[in-house]
Amino acid sequence: MVNLKITAHGGVNEIGGNQILLEQESKLFLDFGISFSTQKNFYEFPLLVPGSLTDLINTNLIPNLSGLYRNAGISPIYDKNNLFIDVSKKIEKEENYAGVLISHAHVDHYYFFTLLRDYIPIYLSSLSKRIIELKDETSYKNWRGDSSNINLNALDFSRDLILKEYTIKSFPVDHSLPGATAFLISINGTNIAYTGDMRFHGIRGETTRTFKNYLMNHDIDVLISEGTKLKPEKTKNDDPYTDSKNILNSEQEVKEKFINLVNNEKNLVIYDASYYDFDRLKTIWKATIECGRILILPSKQAYFVNKFMSEDYGKDFPDLKTVKILLNSNKGRINQREKDILESQGLDNIYFESWKKYRKTWEKELMNLILNSDQLIWKPALGEILDDPDKYVVFVVDGARFLKDLKKSTNNIIGTYIYGKAEAFDIEGELKFYKLKQWVNLCKLKFKYAHSSGHLSEEELARFIDDISPKILIPVHTEAPERFKKILGNTSINIKLLEKKKTYQFNL
Ligand SMILES: [Zn+2]
Repeated sequence: MVNLKITAHGGVNEIGGNQILLEQESKLFLDFGISFSTQKNFYEFPLLVPGSLTDLINTNLIPNLSGLYRNAGISPIYDKNNLFIDVSKKIEKEENYAGVLISHAHVDHYYFFTLLRDYIPIYLSSLSKRIIELKDETSYKNWRGDSSNINLNALDFSRDLILKEYTIKSFPVDHSLPGATAFLISINGTNIAYTGDMRFHGIRGETTRTFKNYLMNHDIDVLISEGTKLKPEKTKNDDPYTDSKNILNSEQEVKEKFINLVNNEKNLVIYDASYYDFDRLKTIWKATIECGRILILPSKQAYFVNKFMSEDYGKDFPDLKTVKILLNSNKGRINQREKDILESQGLDNIYFESWKKYRKTWEKELMNLILNSDQLIWKPALGEILDDPDKYVVFVVDGARFLKDLKKSTNNIIGTYIYGKAEAFDIEGELKFYKLKQWVNLCKLKFKYAHSSGHLSEEELARFIDDISPKILIPVHTEAPERFKKILGNTSINIKLLEKKKTYQFNL
């Protein structure tokens, strides 16, 4: 018999913020992400943001546990003239942590792992590790630090990982970004499975089926399962953005619908996808070539793809030579020569872009690598796209911003805007979507959808759980945990709904 304690420090009754602590002899965290809802309850970018570990603990964004954080117990010392002179260190003693397993590279699953102390090993797939490293390399840094400050261990899928009393099998699964992983954790023959986020209908759906089959062939004591697509009953049908008729059933259907929309458009096509959904990028890129058009790719996505090219995951992307690359906006400090030009015209300052100067290192690296400079498009020349609108598909990740820039270049935009992102699941998401629609209307573009979800549908989830038949089911990553009871109907599975931060003891 195994006595296991489980505490969800985040990730229950909400989508995201997974921080699930297993405790037996030692402690093991499943994910260590940021809770969007808690963050939004207390903070607002850019003026009200957490600035220290204490802020994060006080607002429940991270658990208040000793021995966990690298800068805990350190505070500045000032002298009588209020000058900072030293730091006091009350280093907390090390606790018995076996490690942290990260399911995938979405921030709601990993964001706060940079705060953890070095003696706590962190494991994740090599692709998740790579995506997080590239994200950090191409983003602004803050006091939280990034993956370059910590040791990340890449999982070896071909063998068990032993962390103290936990024997861990890792399974690649399909999700809306590559590298997602599910886990089966065994303690003396007691099995705990954790899904992370997953789906069957992506281009790597087979991997999720392999995970499921493995679980079906073993006795699963506890299944900790995501339930993103389960919605509280009252809001199920009254939200136009979650209307299921806009969501397709597979990536293949996304491709077919996209090709159809492109073939019916004689002018510009814009496709709006999530930042790190590189499988979708691959689909849209290949389909764009099939349609005889050229894909215009944001420089950040092109930079990632170029890095992936030399690695296993990048092998079946089309050649980077087939795209045009849209450079970031780049406003630099004004120098004397530029100041003189402006002054000679009687001007103080105007906004203008700088082609190369002040560009970020990663973007310069990409620009140097592209031998044919015709491949590069920068914001002042954006209007050129519209000289031959039927030649291109523009791939965007921040659609409203792109339309703002495009509108600056020309007044006359004709074309189709295809939305390929997850449906909004909260009020902020809806507001963002509303603003995007305003820009689409301002540009007089047709608005269409071509998207399939990153998660299991309600029916798939019910079937998945039923087929595995765990003794205990713990819903996470869902706003409607009580709905699991409804979708599973008359079942012998003990569905255990956890309260956030409350510790539950299981005798398994
Ligand atoms: Zn996810």
